Amino acid sequence: MSGVHLPFSGKVALVTGAAGNIGLATAKRLATMGADLALLDLDQAKLEQARAGLDGHDVRITIHTCDVTDSAQVKQCVDTVVSELGQIDFLFNNAGYQGAFAPVQDYPDADFARVLQINVCGAFHVLKHVGGHMVTRGFGRIVNTASMAGVQGPPNMAAYGASKFAMVGLTEVAAKDLAPYNIRVNAISPAFMGPGFMWDRQVELQAKAGSQYFSTNPEEVARQMIGSIPMRRYGNIDEIPGVVAFLLSDDSSYMTGVNLPISGGI
Ligand code: NAD
Repeated sequence: MSGVHLPFSGKVALVTGAAGNIGLATAKRLATMGADLALLDLDQAKLEQARAGLDGHDVRITIHTCDVTDSAQVKQCVDTVVSELGQIDFLFNNAGYQGAFAPVQDYPDADFARVLQINVCGAFHVLKHVGGHMVTRGFGRIVNTASMAGVQGPPNMAAYGASKFAMVGLTEVAAKDLAPYNIRVNAISPAFMGPGFMWDRQVELQAKAGSQYFSTNPEEVARQMIGSIPMRRYGNIDEIPGVVAFLLSDDSSYMTGVNLPISGGI
């Protein structure tokens, strides 16, 4: 493949939550399109596995253990990526945590704070430090992972819903702040995606939450969730990376501040 010009040849993409389902699937797509990759996640062993899963792609790949809740760590990581790969053109700001499932009156304080720390403060730290670098270059394309939980508040998910509404707001603000510097900022909002860790976890925990909205039987919860989707199936993780690639590419050159649902029609 060496010497072949691919759509993202010469571009460097930073992917956060890169060892998770959506992050890794998207990293694979960006590598297939020729982008060099900086993979960021919490866990070194999972990152090494993710890098091994990208073997065979003729692109540069670096891995970075970093907790996005720590602004100083994120700044250091961004500096390291720039010194190792030269620049950051694309950001997939995707690390996230779902939190506990409980009605708002019982929602655990510690978990509420943790979800907001990761999904809002963490996403902000990445946006701030990568955005600062992109401003100096006068170029950048950013995709934030929000959720349909940030469009319609889901039951039993006070922290997650609040955090993803915040992510949509952050996308709109950053799109305006960064537009003068040739930096576009958009969001994606997946709904029920599976199979995978988040699907299994939410089916099980919605059943345990025992609310009027879902059965207490996880199999029935899965049927109820699928029944609420006009397309009557959950989305596959592999239906996400193409949308991210579109938002990073020049095919979306007049789009910024947009939140695209990936939701089967919800
Ligand atoms: P996942 O759990 O497989 O991946 C999330 C990754 O984020 C993990 O690898 C985790 O280690 C990393 N992460 C968590 N906290 C971190 C921190 N403090 N610093 C650095 N990395 C951290 O989940 P996923 O399904 O791949 O989710 C990716 C994103 O998509 C999340 O933002 C999630 O909220 C969002 N989302 C997922 C779904 C779904 O159904 N899977 C639906 C809507 C939105």
